[in-house]
Amino acid sequence: MLVSDSLGVNANGHLTVSGCDTVALAEKYGTPLMVYSEDGIRRNCRKFVSSIEENYGGKGLALYASKAFSCLEMYRICKQEHMGVDVVSGGELYTALKAGFPAENIFFHGNNKTDEELHMALENGVGRLVVDNIEELRRIDALAAQMQLTAAIHLRIKPGIDAHTHNFIRTGQIDSKFGFALETGEALAAVKQALASDHITLTGLHCHIGSQIFDIAPFEHAAEVMLDFIADIKAQTGAVITELNLGGGFGIKYKDSDNPEDFTEYMKRVSVVVKEKCAEKDLDVPFIVIEPGRSVVGAECVTLYTVGSVKTIPQIRTYVSIDGGMTDNPRYILYQAEYEVLCANKADQPRDTVVTVAGKCCESGDLIQENAAIQSVEAGDIVAVLSTGAYNYSMASNYNRVPRPAVVMVCGETDRLIVRRESYEDLLRNDL
Ligand SMILES: *Cc1c(COP(=O)(O)O)cnc(C)c1O
Repeated sequence: MLVSDSLGVNANGHLTVSGCDTVALAEKYGTPLMVYSEDGIRRNCRKFVSSIEENYGGKGLALYASKAFSCLEMYRICKQEHMGVDVVSGGELYTALKAGFPAENIFFHGNNKTDEELHMALENGVGRLVVDNIEELRRIDALAAQMQLTAAIHLRIKPGIDAHTHNFIRTGQIDSKFGFALETGEALAAVKQALASDHITLTGLHCHIGSQIFDIAPFEHAAEVMLDFIADIKAQTGAVITELNLGGGFGIKYKDSDNPEDFTEYMKRVSVVVKEKCAEKDLDVPFIVIEPGRSVVGAECVTLYTVGSVKTIPQIRTYVSIDGGMTDNPRYILYQAEYEVLCANKADQPRDTVVTVAGKCCESGDLIQENAAIQSVEAGDIVAVLSTGAYNYSMASNYNRVPRPAVVMVCGETDRLIVRRESYEDLLRNDL
């Protein structure tokens, strides 16, 4: 019934993360509280790193897509686990650098990087800039010339594959704000322009076909399309592209019913496709980059809340109001994301009631989950929402001037604070 190996139930009937009692953690740190399993995160990192070891003889790099959950401690863990990271803003880059993350293993994404961000990236020696559009290509070339250096770049390509959770479609041209389209010739034109730019080295191509993908087939397909393009580039320009970044998007378990393919299986199968395609097209196997975000942290966190009230509207529904909401988890109001919820202090009891878990914000849509099966709960109980590790804290806001929650990391039955709870004073930090 639990969505991650890091979760359990102890003799007191309390939910545990990495063996730590969540009810005790809620008491110690207050709620809302986000509890990450450090063991779980490290286990996931190692899985990605070793899959590159096993399938490509180490000729590759796994980047943690840090937008999923970005804070100093995450970058430190990634560094220790020999991961690279990708960042999509000056703020994420700043955090990574402050954490002492080696700049050469940082890749910089984004469809509208400012000159200031590009300057910051080049000045600090960021490993690769992943270029999204022609204007950006021109700006990087000019900036690099000014700074008397050469920028190593990847081009972001739209491979024309639209992957959904359970299937994928090939479209003539996907409607996306990111990257250069293959079909229209836009991508090849960008390659030629990059090759002709004096202060740019085109080392690789990048694609990212979606998120929370359960199937392997769309990834195999994307790899084929990208390698066909690399062969085309070689045929038409003579240029050899040596790095292939296949993006992220590997699905995780939110609900019990979710059944994502194991990541190691993905890597095994894609590597076969890559090697076969390279043999067919007479290419050397490129340096492979992958960018898992959600799959590194998503299932390794639970958010703990205290129930304030239980309001039953006969024949309609029961609202369980908690002390957080869309401010710490906007994924339900954004796209009706599904979660498992349970009562952390009654985790050994059957989930035999159905409720709507509501946040404390002044928005009727501020819900965490509708029609969720949970134990019978009352005021004072601790509600746990599972698999909140990705795109929760990083999307948190201060709507209604609700301070962001504290974040705790647990490891081998020890716990430590990694992000302090925001205070009311923090809320006034920039007010004049
Ligand atoms: C968001 C993103 C990722 C990570 O996606 P997940 O679904 O979290 O694995 C990787 N690469 C790029 C370019 C992204 O935008």
